[in-house]
Amino acid sequence: MKILVINCGSSSLKYQLFDMEKEEVMVKGLVERIGIEGSRLIQEVEGKDKFIIEKEMKDHTKAVSYVFEALTDKENGVINDLSEIDGVGHRFVHGGEKIAKSVIIDDEVKKAVKEYTKFAPLHNPANLMGLEACEKLLPNVKNVAVFDTAFHQTMPQENYLYGIDYKFYEKYSLRKYGFHGTSHKYITKRVSELLEKPQEKVNLVSCHLGNGSSLCAVKNGESIDTTMGLTPLEGLVMGTRSGDLDPTVVTFLMDNENMTTDEVNNELNKHSGVLGISGVSSDFRDLEEAQEKGNEKADAALKMFSNRVKKYLAGYMAEIENCDAIVFTGGIGENSITMREDIMKGFEQFGIKIDHDKNNVRGGEHVISTEDSSVKVMVVATNEELMIAKDTQNLI
Ligand code: AMP
Repeated sequence: MKILVINCGSSSLKYQLFDMEKEEVMVKGLVERIGIEGSRLIQEVEGKDKFIIEKEMKDHTKAVSYVFEALTDKENGVINDLSEIDGVGHRFVHGGEKIAKSVIIDDEVKKAVKEYTKFAPLHNPANLMGLEACEKLLPNVKNVAVFDTAFHQTMPQENYLYGIDYKFYEKYSLRKYGFHGTSHKYITKRVSELLEKPQEKVNLVSCHLGNGSSLCAVKNGESIDTTMGLTPLEGLVMGTRSGDLDPTVVTFLMDNENMTTDEVNNELNKHSGVLGISGVSSDFRDLEEAQEKGNEKADAALKMFSNRVKKYLAGYMAEIENCDAIVFTGGIGENSITMREDIMKGFEQFGIKIDHDKNNVRGGEHVISTEDSSVKVMVVATNEELMIAKDTQNLI
């Protein structure tokens, strides 16, 4: 069985074609600058040169048509005919309260996606555009939606409500939803396999640390709490996002900087976080380099990041009780040896100890704690695309 996974942004589209028998990626690609001058598609197949199409792509339908052209290209493609694609899995961002698991897309699902565009104004419309392009160009193939929010729909009310008048929740569904659900779900599944423990009995804290970062408390295999909120802005300090703030900061900026709501949103999402604090970069490799050279702001930004993770991690361990594992994933979680050390410092008093040699790894799947650590600490590389492909395979 071959499953195509599509992840659409407002002007970009990422894709991977999976051979599900081998659970292998046959091809991956990226379309950039959709609807903007200079559109191009870059496709990568192992053992072949990069294949590039530079043509006008005025919308997502056109972009998807070039994806299909690239997939079936005689020299650079990997399939002879589009009929070889058995199903398409789409990454969707916000399914609100209506969608708690991956689903075959029908009119009800599309209605829910449109309804929750109010909370994901850039992502949900882009996701729909990618879907509609596939429906048009591959009319006989089933489309499945895998939502970033779905895994967190098991959170109890006390963890998803905000401390504001309940009427706003009733009127607007204003609440915490959480994101990165596909990654946290993959980690839960993988850790249950690695620990040889049934998924419904696994308790862990999944630390997805990347350009966007979130922690998820998993109890009995289900998400019971997570750091991102109504939108991905809440929680940890991130690459360019502020994370948690006193809400008065927003009104203060609006009053004193004459900022509009759009401008404040843009500031807090694009110019804040470790980039805003350090003035150096949102990339942790750059920050670690600057820190080594004595840059105080880069040092403060990295410490803010690790401290915020520590606070949530300790809280989540108390929430889930009997924690089986603390798991690091995402670009930073998988690769930053020093960040993992910094975060875990302070947990030694609870008997949770990192083995410094074992921690000297990047990517893969490893236990990095000592034999006598009271809780296992692990690095597990995430694979959201494979999770989407598997959910699609199961549903179709
Ligand atoms: P992601 O969004 O999951 O792709 O993660 C991107 C982040 O991972 C960026 O901030 C990168 O700097 C960080 N990252 C990737 N490799 C390393 C590394 N070797 N050391 C530290 N951070 C890294």
